[in-house]
Formats: sequence, structure tokens, C-alpha cells
Amino acid sequence: MSQTSSSKNLIQPYHLDLWHEVAFTTVNAGNMSTTVLAESETPEDTKQHRRAVEEALGITPGTTRFVSQIHSTTVVEAGPDGWESQPTLGDADAIVSVSGTAPMAILVADCMPIAFSTDYGPAAIAHAGRVGLLGGILEKTVERLRALDRGGRGRIKAVIGPSICGSCYEVPAEMRQQAAHHYSNIASETTWGTPALDLPAAAEGILEAADVEVYRINDCTFTNEQFYSHRRQPGAGRIAGFVWKSTKTRQ
Ligand SMILES: [Zn+2]
Repeated sequence: MSQTSSSKNLIQPYHLDLWHEVAFTTVNAGNMSTTVLAESETPEDTKQHRRAVEEALGITPGTTRFVSQIHSTTVVEAGPDGWESQPTLGDADAIVSVSGTAPMAILVADCMPIAFSTDYGPAAIAHAGRVGLLGGILEKTVERLRALDRGGRGRIKAVIGPSICGSCYEVPAEMRQQAAHHYSNIASETTWGTPALDLPAAAEGILEAADVEVYRINDCTFTNEQFYSHRRQPGAGRIAGFVWKSTKTRQ
């Protein structure tokens, strides 16, 4: 993925071979949420942060689609309008663009932002924390993308973005046990020796089982201060994962 120099500090650079553009913001881009705000911030600050990132990515400012994330398994289609005229597409945790051209984003601070790119046109982005993952948001997103593949031979790639890792996401022992009933590879242990969940490992397993090629970005939001982390600093803000189709020629 090529980037202009102005976008370098706003997004974390990764080398991804996809049919769409994918980017994940850093704290340098500022808070991307209009609802989770630090004490000194207003929604207008977030709007400015969003416009600056969109500009840096080559997206028309205000055109990115967002949803009101509720840890559900609801997948919605990207409408004609972005956040400037339609702040949210409603309560949902994944967005699909049938044409693949709509810029879409998911907000996170430890949960996983997972972007999807297909070789037959559509794109998608999903928000998966523990609840959404166990509920099946990733399977539902892939199902929706497969339903759009008329030829039935399309390829899907997914990028698991920056999120809390299996060595940091501490949970009660009982929770780990219950989650492991669903996905055996989700059980983990923190570096300090307590029960944990490895959400990225579970996501990778789910996606590979659904015949999706996976890029797993191993940046941990809890330990890497380039990202917001709800566990490290509750309420400080959200990074955003973006997927879009570039209308510009790659440099
Ligand atoms: Zn970690």
C-alpha cells in the first residue's frame, strides 16, 4: 500500500496486497469517535480529525460510512451518504459495500477492526470484540460477501487490524472456559500468568475456515501507545479502520 508523506503519521503503515485500500489510524490522527470523547474534546474536534484523515487517504472528506456499534451480529449495506450528512447507518457491527467503492470505517480501542477485500468487487468492514466474535459477526459478514459472488469462485482477503492481543486480554477463568467451547484456540494466558482470550487467533481461525485469506496485524493496542486502548486508558478515544477503493492512480 502506498502512502503520501502527509498520511504517514496519521496511519500505521502495513504492506497489504488487496483489491481495496485499507488503513488503520494511530493516536496521531486523533480521536475518531464522536461519542467516546475525552473531557477536553467535542464532537467538532472529531469531525476535524476525520476530515484530515480522509484527505490524507484520498477519500472525499465526510463520505466515509460509520455505524453505531453495539457488539451485535448485524451487517448493513453502505448507503449513498457518508457521516457528514448521515452520521450513522444505524445499530450494526459490519458494513458491506456491494460495489466496493464506498469508504467505510469501524471504531475500536482493543476490539478488532477487520477489513474485507474481494477480487469480484464488494468490500466490507467489521467490528469484533469478544461478544460479536462469539455471536458470529465474522461468519455473517463473510456469508454476505459470498452471497454477492455470482460466479462462486471469488476470493476474499481479510485484515485483522490493531487490537488487544492474547497475552494482554485478561478475563475471568470461567469466561475463558465458556469461550473455548465455541473456539478452542481462543483460550490464552496473559504475560503475567492469568486467564486470557486471544481474539485475533480465534478470528484468524474463523476466517480461514471460511476460506478467507488472512493478514493478521500483530500490533497490540494495549502495549503499543500508537493506538487507543480502552483497557489501558478508558474513554481516551478510538482509532478507526478504513476500507475504500482508491480513485487515484497508485504511486
Ligand atoms: Zn498485548
